[in-house]
Amino acid sequence: MKARLAELERRAEEKGLDAVIVASPANVKAFSGVDCDSAVLELRERRGGGWDAALYTDFRYAPMVRRLFPRLEARDIARFRPRGKRIGYEGSVAHSRFLKWEQKSRDGEFVDFSEAIAEVRAVKTADEIARIRAAERLACEIWRDASKRFRAGMTEREMARTIQRMMVERGDGEAFETIVCIGANAAECHHVPDDTVWNGRESVLVDMGVRLGGVASDLTRNLFPRPSRLYRQVYDLVLEANLAAIAAAKPGITGRELDRVARKVLERGGFGQAFGHSLGHGVGYEIHEAPFASKKSKSVLKPGMTVTIEPGVYLEGNLGVRIEDLVLITETGCEVLSSSAAK
Ligand code: ZN
Ligand code: ZN
Repeated sequence: MKARLAELERRAEEKGLDAVIVASPANVKAFSGVDCDSAVLELRERRGGGWDAALYTDFRYAPMVRRLFPRLEARDIARFRPRGKRIGYEGSVAHSRFLKWEQKSRDGEFVDFSEAIAEVRAVKTADEIARIRAAERLACEIWRDASKRFRAGMTEREMARTIQRMMVERGDGEAFETIVCIGANAAECHHVPDDTVWNGRESVLVDMGVRLGGVASDLTRNLFPRPSRLYRQVYDLVLEANLAAIAAAKPGITGRELDRVARKVLERGGFGQAFGHSLGHGVGYEIHEAPFASKKSKSVLKPGMTVTIEPGVYLEGNLGVRIEDLVLITETGCEVLSSSAAK
């Protein structure tokens, strides 16, 4: 984490900043280790060179910060006032909060520094990698155990509840709302589980992630007891796209190039139009974070980053297939963290 802060400071210097304000809970956690929903991490360049870090938080969290992070100076958030001439901040901060900062700052120029913050954070520490690996492994175990309990007559909601219960018992609950789609419902990428009843023959798509040790996981798998010829054809093609992208995921490739690898497979198979979303996203403290693998993404993949590989084909009123694996970029390629087989 110290190295991560140092990298952010280096980037701040590159951009001519003399202060950085980090305020979103996930970023505060990623750059300080402190897990609380009301805090500001302030980095200030020292006159003689080097940087100081201070954490502003309120009465509820101050004792925890002092106990767990004695090296971080804990200050009262009510007294926070942006200092510095060029202040980097997260562009996504609430407008009302930003206006207050602007008011309190003395002629500071605010510079959107979100991209650098997200990029630096995207390279995970060894400890974060271990936790993400464990969370993804647990998601795979829960998928295997829960899907074995799916019976004809169950509704999507009941299937989702089976998964949710296991997530609460074995992990820290859902990382996001579990998606369960029976048959043609899978043509809606983010279908909300409803009272559709499973006849035991239709396909079932499940997109799920368990939270464990402060991090998220993400996995999409499909059951297809009696696939139609079209379903089989689409499934094989989506799997081919997924495997091609996994084979291509390595340091140096951009998010756009990676997205292109999978998209090309689907286009060649005649289903390019039916893949309307991006290929993938990073997973860590948040379920969707940098790097992004999309048509436009310029993110360059680096060792230590996680990214999902989730191509899909959606034919409205008919079927939907998405196969999602979470991979970790290594020095030479990638390691697939999703242990449950897609086929
Ligand atoms: Zn997912
Ligand atoms: Zn995903």
